[in-house]
Amino acid sequence: MVRVYTAGNVVDARLVCDMLLGAGLDATVTGGYLSGAAGELPVDSLISVWLTEPLHAWRARELIDAFERDRLQAADECVCQHCGAETTTAFTQCWQCNLML
Ligand SMILES: [Zn+2]
Repeated sequence: MVRVYTAGNVVDARLVCDMLLGAGLDATVTGGYLSGAAGELPVDSLISVWLTEPLHAWRARELIDAFERDRLQAADECVCQHCGAETTTAFTQCWQCNLML
């Protein structure tokens, strides 16, 4: 087993794990079920994605890099659904019409 990704939350870990599984790599998520007690856990208990086969790590890294690039790009290209103003996902409200994005 080799750790290929440390996620900030269970959703990210699940997305990465499903992507790796979809690419034919044997991956699993650890730590997600412990998130309720995260404040009391050591760093090693963070939500992580692991590969069963260490030889697949380079392939997993490529896929994860692409995943993170896509997500950054998506964050840059957010448009308000209500007024069409361009904004970023860093905000939860539109700067122009003040509606929730
Ligand atoms: Zn708007």
